[in-house]
Amino acid sequence: KGPDPDLVAIAERMATVKHKILVLSGKGGVGKSTISAQLSFALAAMDFQVGLLDIDICGPSIPKMLGLEGQDIHQSNLGWSPIYVESNLGVMSIGFMLPHPDEAVIWRGPRKNGIIKQFLKDVYWGELDFLVVDAPPGTSDEHISIVQFLQATGIDGAIIVTTPQQVSLIDVRKEVSFCKKVGINVLGVVENMSGLSQPLSAFQFKRITMSGEEEDLTEWVMSCLKEKAPEVLNLVACSEVFDSSGGGAAKMCSEMGVPFLGKVPLDPQLCKAAEEGRSCFSDNKCGASAPSLKRIIEKL
Ligand code: ADP
Repeated sequence: KGPDPDLVAIAERMATVKHKILVLSGKGGVGKSTISAQLSFALAAMDFQVGLLDIDICGPSIPKMLGLEGQDIHQSNLGWSPIYVESNLGVMSIGFMLPHPDEAVIWRGPRKNGIIKQFLKDVYWGELDFLVVDAPPGTSDEHISIVQFLQATGIDGAIIVTTPQQVSLIDVRKEVSFCKKVGINVLGVVENMSGLSQPLSAFQFKRITMSGEEEDLTEWVMSCLKEKAPEVLNLVACSEVFDSSGGGAAKMCSEMGVPFLGKVPLDPQLCKAAEEGRSCFSDNKCGASAPSLKRIIEKL
């Protein structure tokens, strides 16, 4: 029996891709797609040729986060063409194939396996420095497929995204052991939504009564501060949002022997950038997350 022709075709496609990075998470909603999107924007801004492949088949959010909603895939004689945000940032997602963004994809394993194979075989990326793969949460059929298909051509490793709470970290441990089992290098873990850091002026101050009524005291607080301690208005207020008393991702990483890449705070500016499909680095009003993301990318 000769070599599997699909694997041969994938190896041929991937021969022009220098680095392949998987972005994983134990749970949904922890910011995996946001990190994949911003990582891709950042690499492209550094003049690398970047491809972003979204294989989160049941919840493809990459088209929206890259500002590409409603786009259709085109075919050329070289294969399926990615949709380009910039000349050096191309994107491919199942989201481009759905007639409606709110359409549910209910597929069984073999069909998911088939589309991932097709993405790897048929998308014409050309020469790429980086292919960032946004995987679904957990360790399901899609993960086994992507690893199986890509491993022959070499994967640089996986970035795992989590939030600081124990419930999320328990699933990250599973993700790390999945990587170890299938022989994928863990490039590191990102602790996202790690506290809230905002300029004091962005907060509202309220008095809430026992009956639940709210009285907005923002104007009064601000005028008191302006009069008595104006320098306080320039401070950034920080607060833990999720319980990280267990030591968060940093402790888990040292226990499991994998690198800790850093923390990204909850940042309304990052959320806004993701909603509007743009890079959080290009906005000079960017919040506390942009410097943290930059530091993480420099560590990779
Ligand atoms: P996942 O891919 O893990 O399901 P998403 O990347 O879709 O998660 O993120 C879920 C939501 O949280 C999105 O609306 C995203 O914009 C928002 N989000 C993610 N990270 C942050 C952050 N650090 N600060 C503020 N909002 C964030």
